[in-house]
Amino acid sequence: MSESRNIGLEVKAPERKCDDVNCPFHSSLRVRGKLLTGKVVSVSAKNMAVVQRESTKYNNKYMRYLKKRHKLHAHVSPCLDLDTGDIAIVAECRPISKTVSFVVVGREAVASKAQLSK
Ligand SMILES: [Zn+2]
Repeated sequence: MSESRNIGLEVKAPERKCDDVNCPFHSSLRVRGKLLTGKVVSVSAKNMAVVQRESTKYNNKYMRYLKKRHKLHAHVSPCLDLDTGDIAIVAECRPISKTVSFVVVGREAVASKAQLSK
């Protein structure tokens, strides 16, 4: 615990240590800007997760709210065990690749196996 950096956010630091150069806890990656939460929909890419967020937008013509879904790519350090269905907390950081400028800093809820099989 003492070896991980304080990233300035009220999130639990991972118990494991990693040597990822883009880890906010164990390397010099700074987090600044937005702090968002979303559901992890894919973890198949290496060190990356697809996080989906939902929002509503008012439609003037039909006078009702539309449900919108937005996906964003976030970097995942090897010290975090993230699975599909988890509610991830992502923080904005410098662009890590063409589409990745967010990094996963923690988890709000862990998807249980019983919930997924429903
Ligand atoms: Zn790490």
